[in-house]
Amino acid sequence: MRTLVWFRGNDLRLRDQVPLHTATHQGEVVLVYVLEPGQWSPVAAGGAPHRRRYLHQIVESLQRDIEERGSRLLLVAGRPLDVLPWLAAGCEVDEVVAQRQTDPEARQTASRLEAMLSVPLRLLDGETLVAPGSMRTTTGGPYSVFTAFAKASSRHLDVKRPIPAPARLPPLPVGVAKWVATATQQTKENARLLDRLPELDQEASDIHGAALHGGEREALKRLKHFVAEKAQNYVDARERLDLDGTSRLSADLRFGSVSPRQIWTAATKAIASDAARGRFLTQLLWREFAYTTLWDRPELLKQPFQARFARFPWRRDERAYAAWVEGRTGYPVVDAAARQLVSEGYVHNRARMIAASFLAKHLLVDFRQGESHYLNWLIDGDIAQNDLGWQWSSGSGCDAQPYFRIFNPVTQGQRFDPEGHYVRRYVPELSRVPTRYIHAPWLAPSLVMTGAGLQLDRDYPAPIVEHAGARHRFLAIAAEHFGKGQPG
Ligand SMILES: Cc1cc2nc3c(=O)[nH]c(=O)nc-3n(C[C@H](O)[C@H](O)[C@H](O)COP(=O)(O)OP(=O)(O)OC[C@H]3O[C@@H](n4cnc5c(N)ncnc54)[C@H](O)[C@@H]3O)c2cc1C
Repeated sequence: MRTLVWFRGNDLRLRDQVPLHTATHQGEVVLVYVLEPGQWSPVAAGGAPHRRRYLHQIVESLQRDIEERGSRLLLVAGRPLDVLPWLAAGCEVDEVVAQRQTDPEARQTASRLEAMLSVPLRLLDGETLVAPGSMRTTTGGPYSVFTAFAKASSRHLDVKRPIPAPARLPPLPVGVAKWVATATQQTKENARLLDRLPELDQEASDIHGAALHGGEREALKRLKHFVAEKAQNYVDARERLDLDGTSRLSADLRFGSVSPRQIWTAATKAIASDAARGRFLTQLLWREFAYTTLWDRPELLKQPFQARFARFPWRRDERAYAAWVEGRTGYPVVDAAARQLVSEGYVHNRARMIAASFLAKHLLVDFRQGESHYLNWLIDGDIAQNDLGWQWSSGSGCDAQPYFRIFNPVTQGQRFDPEGHYVRRYVPELSRVPTRYIHAPWLAPSLVMTGAGLQLDRDYPAPIVEHAGARHRFLAIAAEHFGKGQPG
């Protein structure tokens, strides 16, 4: 039997790779990764150089690991729907296997592909610990409350031991490599994209050299280091913007260079502190909750979970939105988050919450604008988790932060970045502002500002909205809107 293993992009690893494991036990394998132009080409990928760099590193490491084991990863450019039926027929495979990908677009792609292939398409679970949609409340519906979901998960979760990487892989079947090489030479785009890969990597690295390195080995190193050392302080350190207190595994999960099962198992085994282990596993359950929520409610990508937010009077304010995107709101912690996003493709979770809340509540800009900006720039940009995060922060989502709870960006900064290190790292023009004023530079006496070499509104903006006034405005507009008999 000959099987085509389609690496979809959420499964770029050899360990705990269920489709690969299944295929190698069936006989010959053809390993394929489809380079979708949208992921690689600078125009289509917009401002996502970090993600392209990361993905390139992962694909390169996967290629190397596969070659070391005796096979080859075929990189083919195009859209999976165009390329896979052609490849499956040309390579004369009996079956196509892949990891199930559960976001609405991927589901649609899979069902269209199934109809186009002349051989069966088998999708295997592995994106999450539990298949989305499989856990149900006592009334048979999907969960809407995280704590109930987490409680049920801890009763039902049965995480099997991860599958080791294959020691050897069967060589590419005779004739297949040659057929692919000849056939793909005809597609100019293929050659162009493949040639551009190292260049793209360079482009992104130039923007920020200190970013994380992608790849399965790097992901495993991160996991090992986290469970052995960093995790011990997770409970206290995870909320601190100025500390490197979290696992930094989100991008690895996004591309599947490590599986959720590997992380869960390693954390369960190796994190000694009950509190730290519990807290970390809860975060992994938030990921599960995001996936299962989107599985049951794909419409959430277009509309808020809470119907009363459906026609919310968001403001179209391009100036305010641009200030938020560019890190020029005058609120240091909000601006640091904006600049961390663009310079690194990552933002600390607490900073994501503060920045998202600020956009929706202080500026009254539709959270979906921020959601797509984040999805474009985050290396870990994940449709389900990003949507949950934005709907949570704006108060409109499933088990969201109540709409009337509005983060104060000054006190949030003082609490989670007490010395101002986070702000100084990403907003260097404030680097000499004394800690006392670092989260509210407009309160500093002019002598202090002069000493810090700073003039407000010249070197750094004054706040674009005043916190108390913005808070009042949001609450008043929400009260009026909800009071108009909006369903709620
Ligand atoms: C507005 C907003 C947007 C977000 N967008 C994304 C996104 O696109 N992709 C993404 O992976 N996460 C997103 N998150 C969740 C969270 O911010 C990141 O998962 C986390 O910051 C990643 O860092 P880490 O791996 O070091 O986290 P850790 O604290 O080490 O957590 C471990 C893992 O648990 C999961 N996790 C942690 N917190 C959450 C959470 N609140 N919701 C869902 N899963 C969680 C992640 O997979 C994470 O990698 C978003 C949160 C908000 C508020």
